Amino acid sequence: MLKHKAVAIFFTTILAILAIASLFVAIEIGYAVIVIFVWFIVVLYGSTFIFSNYHVHAYCSNPLETEKKIAITFDDGPSPNTTLILEVLEKYQVKAAFFCIGQQVEKHPEIVRKLISENHIIANHSYEHSSFFDFLRRDSVIEELRKTDALIEKYLGKKPQFFRPPYGVTNPSIRRALEVTKHKVIGWNIRSLDGIIKNEKFIYKRIIKRVKPGAIILMHDTTFETVQVLEQLLLFLEKNKYEVVPIDQLLNLKAYEN
Ligand SMILES: [Zn+2]
Repeated sequence: MLKHKAVAIFFTTILAILAIASLFVAIEIGYAVIVIFVWFIVVLYGSTFIFSNYHVHAYCSNPLETEKKIAITFDDGPSPNTTLILEVLEKYQVKAAFFCIGQQVEKHPEIVRKLISENHIIANHSYEHSSFFDFLRRDSVIEELRKTDALIEKYLGKKPQFFRPPYGVTNPSIRRALEVTKHKVIGWNIRSLDGIIKNEKFIYKRIIKRVKPGAIILMHDTTFETVQVLEQLLLFLEKNKYEVVPIDQLLNLKAYEN
């Protein structure tokens, strides 16, 4: 059973018990308020953190990987900065995954072609990536995913299977949309925070502290600082005998629909 459903049953049962008990003994309304508050916190936590697998199952790493293998992913592109990222990846002969925003694919078809010709994985990261994505109803989420799938298919000739929700936030509408589109949700277990903090040293240290077999690193190809960090990171991985593998290989999943 989905965690969201199980949690709802659990808290509804407590509230029902409180309601029934209040018929026989005096129970302060404050108890019900506390129960509802705790429920709200649990839902908030589950919706915010993709690795909690609260609304949907998300692949955030390969916990069974024992060899020093790791995958690198980039969100929010393609953008002019992506070409700088591609130069570094090419220099170190590394294949990464790019979770693209549909609107950006429309703006930068030449970069999409470059991603394809250099054999990187292309995945879906919604069409607009709007701050309101988490308030969209099921059908609008489906439309966002299908629009981006169609754009990627136009250049690649096949549909992406991987989807990363904007901000890593999930909810019941997204879950219901995914039941229709059948995308596999890809999360991460190393968040670089490169989209928020503009300090290369901080980002680099934050990543290398968390590196372990089977990990998935989240970075942004839209950020200039990431270019420098990426080169440092690839040197670190090389020195420590880590192999950067494509994410479909790390997770044993198919990146595209046939
Ligand atoms: Zn994003």
